[in-house]
Amino acid sequence: MTADVAADAVGIVVVSHSRALARAAIALAQEMLHGRAVRIEEAAGLEDGAIGTDAVRVADAIVRADGGRGVVVLMDLGSAVLSAELALDLVDPAVRERVILCPGPLVEGLCVATVAAGTGADRDGVAHEALRSLGAKEGQLAAPAGSAGTPDSTRAPDSGGAPDSGGAGEHGRLTGRFEVTWPHGMHARPAAVLVQAVREFDAHVRLRDLTVASGAVPAGSLSRVAALGAVEGHTVEVTAEGPQAREALARVLQLAATGFGDLRAPATAGAQGPAGAVTAASAGPLPAAPGVAVGPAWFLPRQPEAPPGEDGGEGDEGAPDPGTEWGRLLGALADAGKEVRRTRDRTARVAGETEALIFDAHLALLDDPELLEAAHAAIRGGRSAQAAWAAAVAAAESALGRLADDHLRARAADVRAVGDLVDRRLRTASAAATPGGTPAAAGHGVLIAADLTPAQAATLDPQRVRAVVLAAGSPTAHSAVLTRALGIPIVVAAGPAVLTVAPGTPVAVDGGSGELVVDPSATVRAEFEERARELARRRERARTQSAAPAVTRDGLVIHVGANLASVEDARAAAAAGADLAGLVRTEFVFLGRSRPPDVDEQAAVYQAMALAMPGRRIVVRTLDVGGDKPLDYLPAPTEANPFLGVRGIRLSFTRPQLLAEQLRAVVRVAHDLPVDVMFPMVTTVDELLAARRAVDVAARAEGGAAPPGMRVGIMVEIPATALKAKAFAPHVDFLSIGTNDLTQYALAAERGNDAVAALADPLDPGVLALVAATGAARTTVAVCGELAADERVTGLLLGLGVRELSVVPAAVGQVKQAVRQVDSRQAAALASAALAAPDAAAVRALLTA
Ligand code: PEP
Ligand code: MG
Repeated sequence: MTADVAADAVGIVVVSHSRALARAAIALAQEMLHGRAVRIEEAAGLEDGAIGTDAVRVADAIVRADGGRGVVVLMDLGSAVLSAELALDLVDPAVRERVILCPGPLVEGLCVATVAAGTGADRDGVAHEALRSLGAKEGQLAAPAGSAGTPDSTRAPDSGGAPDSGGAGEHGRLTGRFEVTWPHGMHARPAAVLVQAVREFDAHVRLRDLTVASGAVPAGSLSRVAALGAVEGHTVEVTAEGPQAREALARVLQLAATGFGDLRAPATAGAQGPAGAVTAASAGPLPAAPGVAVGPAWFLPRQPEAPPGEDGGEGDEGAPDPGTEWGRLLGALADAGKEVRRTRDRTARVAGETEALIFDAHLALLDDPELLEAAHAAIRGGRSAQAAWAAAVAAAESALGRLADDHLRARAADVRAVGDLVDRRLRTASAAATPGGTPAAAGHGVLIAADLTPAQAATLDPQRVRAVVLAAGSPTAHSAVLTRALGIPIVVAAGPAVLTVAPGTPVAVDGGSGELVVDPSATVRAEFEERARELARRRERARTQSAAPAVTRDGLVIHVGANLASVEDARAAAAAGADLAGLVRTEFVFLGRSRPPDVDEQAAVYQAMALAMPGRRIVVRTLDVGGDKPLDYLPAPTEANPFLGVRGIRLSFTRPQLLAEQLRAVVRVAHDLPVDVMFPMVTTVDELLAARRAVDVAARAEGGAAPPGMRVGIMVEIPATALKAKAFAPHVDFLSIGTNDLTQYALAAERGNDAVAALADPLDPGVLALVAATGAARTTVAVCGELAADERVTGLLLGLGVRELSVVPAAVGQVKQAVRQVDSRQAAALASAALAAPDAAAVRALLTA
């Protein structure tokens, strides 16, 4: 036992077959402590020192370790677990309630549990740390040699790199440095921002004040970070280990550049940077959905704290009954399923089928046999429903978090969201307290949050939530897409400083420009309110004229279509006045099934869509899935870079039967209705010619030639394809630019990766040059990526040679209205200026000039 033990620290018991092993592990763990000591008791070996474990000794150790805040027991193998379980029956019930038997690894678990207890974490926090403690090692060993680093992965650890750059040490430990440039150093507020940020990552982050050669402190501990005493002028080293080390380090260095919120943007006058504007030095704030609002700041209510441990047994005195606990878990899963289904239906109704797909993934997780079996096994082992569920979710989340692919890794967030939902249901059931449901609907005004889950975003009430400001996130994240679909303005990546805004403080937001003003002056407030009124007027005008053709001031007719992913979308598009469906994402017909849809099934869906848009053309895009969007019935080899792998038309060529059946369905419907076909991710003219041959084969299989009215086109999503547009033009009836993918490939910035969201800007002149190269081809050139829906960019796109636009149904009216403001000559001049601009910011300045 250690001396000078803090009375309020959680105690730890080490149960091992070997006394020598336990003592050595404890000595190692205590090396990690730099602050207050922790009570660690051993129950190792038998009375005579022989190898073995003894329940009575474990019970004694628990009693000795118990200082009132609880005890976490770590065990080595086999009978150590049994002895520890038995020991629980031997201690006083009041003590037993404070004990967690933690399945974390003994040595790693003990080390991090000791640090956590030493920094004041509660019992569940200590156990949770221990449970996750293999993450760092697993992350290191899972990563191929040399791949674990940041962009600076060649730099040796502790090298004297530039202050704000990360470097990779051996085995994936990453290091970076920052200089404290703000007046009061790492005092409590910046420390709190830092701690809150690092806790969001599955990484062990430590700080060292290099200027005074301090020891390393865990960045997740407020007291330790504040006690570091790093003052202005000091250099702080950051090390990060674990599955999300790269992200955690990047976030810390990004925050350091803003003084962890203590370095505010200099106050300037006017709407572009008014006093009180919250701006981040690097990425954000980023505009993510147009709209202007002024309202009081409000925050999501905190989830009631409840330990993930043994509190779920309805106050039972003994071990929870496995039958009862399993029943409770099944009940919570069923309730959660109902809630997800309600959210899914609502999302499909208000935001469209594509956005609703995310909730199918959540439903699948609620039914996931492995997750359920892991929880069931833990319940059979004596855990409460809540503890068992928490452990199963934590294991699944950490397994996903270790995957190399960003998209699969992002599924960890889905697991967490579903885990929280069920956990809330379990707690609600045991506390018989607050009804379930998403807390996001509660307040009104400008919602400020670190981030939103898809379910929270989908259930925002546009009548109450005037705007959303997220400290993190990216414009392409699900939460932003869903919020946009609800018509709520949103600004993302605003930085952690926004989280320090006092509730009720007036906040002005322009989601179209990314402007954000906290506590605006009367003048600034009036200016934002006028912007909001003007926008409302424009939207109303757009709505009343949405069915009319979109014609530029000098008489150019521009077709404005809608992007669809369901028959319901097609109805919405027709009601919104869409001239065509410029992109039918057929993935929705293929997802969430155990086998592909056959020709008849597909033809029925395409026909229903075409009929829902009477007299208007629908452009059916062939299946665009691949390594990043796997289908269960299409097992594909794991790819290190799925976005650069077998997706889109490449995948279709590996599955000729699948392509043939889809083309047969399209051809069949195209004989009677105006249906076109379009191929995604085409790189070479040869691919296009092969795809065209497949159309002819499908037509013959349907009993004749291809329908004469059926047009064939390709998506332009790959920079090389854009540059070769003239070579493709003779073989197609149209080219449709997918700016979402074109942007990510042109700028090497993956869509959906928050860390590079600011780089992935479709207004980068490099991306615009690719649009211009496509626009110069002698064929109809459309844009169906998200950029087409930005009404401020309409003139620029037309100036670059684009003649057709396809957008979410809700944006059709506004984009048509924007077309009506365009003069082709001025648009051409704007395009030339944009192509000569040095960066996206300069292009934006041209748009508002
Ligand atoms: C695009 O890449 O811009 C596009 C429209 O295709 P998707 O978003 O479906 O990949
Ligand atoms: Mg695409």
